[in-house]
Amino acid sequence: MTRDRPVIAIYPGSFDPLTKGHEDVVRRSLCVADQVIIAIASSATQVKESFFSVDERLEVIKEVFLSEERVKCLIFQGLLVDFARETGAQFVIRGLRAVSDFEYEFQMAQMNRELWDGFETIFLTPDQSYSFLSASLVREIAILGGDVSNFVSDPVLKKIKEALG
Ligand code: ADP
Repeated sequence: MTRDRPVIAIYPGSFDPLTKGHEDVVRRSLCVADQVIIAIASSATQVKESFFSVDERLEVIKEVFLSEERVKCLIFQGLLVDFARETGAQFVIRGLRAVSDFEYEFQMAQMNRELWDGFETIFLTPDQSYSFLSASLVREIAILGGDVSNFVSDPVLKKIKEALG
């Protein structure tokens, strides 16, 4: 089958910080998309207090995917559907870790389709070793002095160590 334009997927989230679970989802999404845009929701969109600034998150994500030309990282504000249209993305990628993720993700997927008919959501599950992993847990463990080296890549680990002194 030939396509007349590249398939672009958008993977939105807070990525505060990027975990190996997020990375796993990005790498899996490259099997179904030609290009993946990691879209960091800026603080204007997110209500919760952040650990890293969006610029710091952008910098570290770019470093992690430096050798992967098909992965781009951008910051966005406002509605995902508007940003997706601007970037030319045809569908959104979301990760499902457990049943507990399902209700919220299902609601979001339906609402996005209400806002833009034809904007599809693709759910991917991570390697089972990452199914318990969340950015908030990584933040908590790091702040309490625990070892998070199994859960984040080296550039992220370096940033966490710098932030916590
Ligand atoms: P978190 O839930 O870890 O704070 P985000 O809000 O940045 O992360 O999540 C962005 C997307 O990535 C969501 O769809 C979320 O379900 C998914 N995700 C987060 N962590 C994982 C993981 N360990 N495995 C698979 N998907 C994940």
